[in-house]
Amino acid sequence: MKIKLTRYSDTLSTQANCTLNDKIDFGTKQHELCLGFIDLLQTTKTHQVLACRRCNLRFQFPIEIQTFAELQTWANQRIKQQASRNKDWVDYCG
Ligand SMILES: [Zn+2]
Repeated sequence: MKIKLTRYSDTLSTQANCTLNDKIDFGTKQHELCLGFIDLLQTTKTHQVLACRRCNLRFQFPIEIQTFAELQTWANQRIKQQASRNKDWVDYCG
């Protein structure tokens, strides 16, 4: 299963037996093309990150997002918001 995270098409790739209903901390996750392994880390009281061990991609999102389906929906909304703003600084601010 693949989930597009950013508007540049950074994509999270899960192991084959993973489904949209699984929790994000289930199984092995990799950054497509980069091939680095991705860790899920809670970093603040309100937010967690998906962090790539190889390229340092850091994707921050609310801790309420628990499943891959919720992650996919949230990431798609964020990509649409960024496209409508069309400002490069958004990429650096997360
Ligand atoms: Zn990476």
